[in-house]
Amino acid sequence: METQRTLRRPVSCTGIGLHSGNKVSLSLKPAPADFGIRFRRSDLGGLEIPATVDNLASIQYATGLACGEGSVETVEHLLAALVSLGVDNVVVELNHPEVPIMDGSASPFVYLIHEAGIKTLTAPRRFLKVVRPIALSSGDKRIALYPSDHFKVTYSISFDHPLLRHQSRTLAITEDSFVEEIASARTFGFLKEVEMLRRHGLALGGSLDNAIVLGETSVLNALRFDDEFVRHKILDVLGDLALVGHRIIGHLVAHRGGHALHTSFAARILEEADAWRLVEGQVDPAFAGRSIMLPVKSGIALNSQ
Ligand SMILES: [Zn+2]
Repeated sequence: METQRTLRRPVSCTGIGLHSGNKVSLSLKPAPADFGIRFRRSDLGGLEIPATVDNLASIQYATGLACGEGSVETVEHLLAALVSLGVDNVVVELNHPEVPIMDGSASPFVYLIHEAGIKTLTAPRRFLKVVRPIALSSGDKRIALYPSDHFKVTYSISFDHPLLRHQSRTLAITEDSFVEEIASARTFGFLKEVEMLRRHGLALGGSLDNAIVLGETSVLNALRFDDEFVRHKILDVLGDLALVGHRIIGHLVAHRGGHALHTSFAARILEEADAWRLVEGQVDPAFAGRSIMLPVKSGIALNSQ
C-alpha cells in the first residue's frame, strides 16, 4: 500500500524575498498523517496558513495564500518541490510573508528536502483520479485535465518575443523526472516588466541571480535548458495544483497559463466533484512499480478536505 510521507528531520535555509528584498528564514518540519502542507508564520505567533484553494489570496506575478491576519507569498516553487518529491505532510515555517526566491527555481528546495530525508507514515495516500475532462479557459489561455493512468503534463507557451515565440513539452511527472527535467528551470521576466515592477516597489530582490531576464532581442543570462521557459511553466503549474490537496492522476494540458488561471483551475477541479474520485494507491509487485488504484470506500464526502 502506498502511504503518506513526511520529512525525517527538520531543515532550514535563508534567502531573500523576491518582492521585498528582505532576508527570510525558512524551516521545513515533519508533520503527522493527514496534516497536509501548512505554512506557519513564526513572526505572527505561529499563525498557520494551510496550502489549500480555500486560502488563495493575491495572485499576480506569484501565488499567495492568506488566512486570518496572516499571508504568505510566492509559494509555488516550494509547493512544486514538496508534492513532486512526495512530501504530503509538512510545516513550512517562515519569519516573513515571502517564501525566499533562492535561485528562481525549485532546485534549492529539492536539495533541502533531500537533506531532511523522507519518512514513510502508515496512513494510505489518496490520489485524485480524473474520470472525465475538466476544462477552463480565459481568452486564449486554456487549461484542462483528462483521464490518464498516470500524471503527466503538456504545456505550451507563446509570446510576442523573438526568443520566445513558441515552446511546448509533455512530461510524465515522477520524482526523478521532476528533479532532472523541471526543478532547476528558473522563473523568467522581461526587462521592461522588471523596470515597471521596480517603479511600483516590487521585485526589489530580483536580480540575474534569481531570474532569467529577457531584453528586447537577447537573454541577459545563460540558459540551463533551451526550453527553460516552458519547463518553468510546468514547475509553476505543479506548485499551483498542489493546492488541490491530493496528488492527481490525469493528463494536464495547458496553453499560455499563468498563476491566476492555474489557481482558478485548482478550485474548479474541487468544484467538479463528479469528474474525479479519490483512490488509494496500492503497489502490485506484478506490475513492477506500476500502481494499482483502489477506490476509496463509496459515499465518502469528497470535498470535505
Ligand atoms: Zn515560477
